[in-house]
Amino acid sequence: MVRPERRTVRDLRKGNRAVLLRTLYFAGPTSRHELTGLTGLSAASVSNVTGDLIADGVVVEAGLVESDGGRPRVLLRVDPEFGYAIGVDVGETHVRVELFDLDMNERAKADHPLHPSRHDVGLVAEHILSGIDAVLAESGVDPGRVLGVGIGVPGIVESGPEALIHAQTFGWDAVPLGTLLRAGTSLPLYVDNGAKTMGQAELWFGAGRGTRHTIVALIGSGAGASIITDGITYRGANSSAGEWGHTKIEFRGRACRCGGRGCLEAYIGAESILARAGMPAGTVDEQAVLAELVASGHPVVDETADYLGAGLANLINLFNPERIVIGGWAGLLLGQHRMTRIKQAAAENSLAQPYETASIVLGRLGPDAVALGAATLVMEEFLLGRTAPAASQPTAS
Ligand SMILES: [Zn+2]
Repeated sequence: MVRPERRTVRDLRKGNRAVLLRTLYFAGPTSRHELTGLTGLSAASVSNVTGDLIADGVVVEAGLVESDGGRPRVLLRVDPEFGYAIGVDVGETHVRVELFDLDMNERAKADHPLHPSRHDVGLVAEHILSGIDAVLAESGVDPGRVLGVGIGVPGIVESGPEALIHAQTFGWDAVPLGTLLRAGTSLPLYVDNGAKTMGQAELWFGAGRGTRHTIVALIGSGAGASIITDGITYRGANSSAGEWGHTKIEFRGRACRCGGRGCLEAYIGAESILARAGMPAGTVDEQAVLAELVASGHPVVDETADYLGAGLANLINLFNPERIVIGGWAGLLLGQHRMTRIKQAAAENSLAQPYETASIVLGRLGPDAVALGAATLVMEEFLLGRTAPAASQPTAS
């Protein structure tokens, strides 16, 4: 038997609270009058809910603004110090932990180098936990005001309390990172793929801001994409969606590090570009060598721009995005020097109509926004009303 849905007054108020909080967070200082227009809520609802948010300390007054003929209006904003979010970037060569206030200003940072060939999960978990302690100590922030810890990792993350991670390049096969961390911290944990966290950072604060149908294509040693449809990251059945680097660009083509052949990554990933240019495998400083190759005008670079454009065309035909953001250190480098060629190849290989409506732009946050993106996982939960600082819990009624 299907129970009729019963929305109580309490549910309604909770929903209105989430809508108002999100609007205030992204719009910045806003008057109650503007909030009515932006949210479609009645003036009475806006007044009630903002009253609750102010009483709970989430929202504060932020000065006055003149209104046409009437009394000046009070501006409201989310108090950046109401809570804090910790973001963690587990990369090939480092574990970076950063603590942000609600405006995403970085308040403290801790870096632990990792040997590129040693990614023992116990060691990584230890670095994360000591990094959390270090940023709390450096910032002087009360742990009771921390909303949670977002963690960006390589590979595929199965959502759930264990946060099982499958990362071939790290030699991680169903590694329970969540369980390992749980032994050392009671803060809420949110683990996701690093490319997806970067994608969310570009969507919220970077080149994707203001869009709803966006793809963030990240190219470093490998390649991946974060596909955002209607403002939400598309994950698929087991959170592995967006493995764009392993879509095929050439049937039975070059061998890929996933074990397959002809993958896009085997042509546009930095490691593969260098190999195609005849550079010895395992080059120590991939970034410097690729920068030199791009500057020298090596024919492999033009060819890579063509493959990249064709890869973007596949995304355009499949998803009809309004914007594609190219990021990742190798993506930024290629985009800065070969954007015209990349766009040309994208145009040649996509259907005319979806190509016309898609803009292709470079990321704005640089190659190091994984920790910031990971912190947005925490913010997302907060804005939905699903987490609050432990120190503020008793005031909610
Ligand atoms: Zn592959």
